[in-house]
Amino acid sequence: MSKVGLETLRVVVSVGIAGVGKSTVLNHTKKFLEGEGFLVEILNFGDYMFNYLIKTGLIKNRDEIRKLPLSKQREIQALAAKDMRKYIESLANERSNEKLIFFVDTHALIKTPSGYWPGLPEHVVKELRPDMIAVIEADPKEVLARQAKDVSRVRSDYSDLKIIEEVMGLIRVFAAVSASYVGASLIIIYNEEGKAEEAGRSLAEAVKRL
Ligand code: AMP
Ligand code: MG
Repeated sequence: MSKVGLETLRVVVSVGIAGVGKSTVLNHTKKFLEGEGFLVEILNFGDYMFNYLIKTGLIKNRDEIRKLPLSKQREIQALAAKDMRKYIESLANERSNEKLIFFVDTHALIKTPSGYWPGLPEHVVKELRPDMIAVIEADPKEVLARQAKDVSRVRSDYSDLKIIEEVMGLIRVFAAVSASYVGASLIIIYNEEGKAEEAGRSLAEAVKRL
């Protein structure tokens, strides 16, 4: 039985290296879309994982998640994806007469001690069912500077220009693979210094046409 709410539902997964300004851009996108009558919600994949893991006492902050044994991360990743889809569908059914857009703020890959690991492997991306994957990019030097300014996070494992360049290149590759599993479009949004609002607007324009 197809439910009415799911017909107008759009899901956009947004990815980008830590410090690229993903949350800032997404908040601008949300504002633009709300101004045009869409109901927009931003879900954070890391929050869902953190909420599971904090109860276990295995971690104290969100930057410890990617240091856990990969088997543990994989287990919690799958649970988080299921929870998010469940939440998305319940809201879509409840608000079936609205144009609903969900953004999932997450990562195409995670840098773990066991290597680069996909944040959107087949089972996860098929659970979330995005219509679009938005890759947020910025100048690697600006990413480095933004990471340094954010004292609330422990990102020393990403804080090197060579690593940032390597990760940014790989994010495109991992994101393209994930998009292909579900036939989602892939868009690259460039978040230039001082122009997050413009980046947010161009993402909003693309999302409107989904
Ligand atoms: P963030 O605040 O976006 O950096 O997310 C915090 C942490 O959550 C990341 O460093 C990862 O350890 C974890 N995380 C976020 N998204 C995913 C995902 N799709 N798959 C696995 N782990 C994730
Ligand atoms: Mg963020």
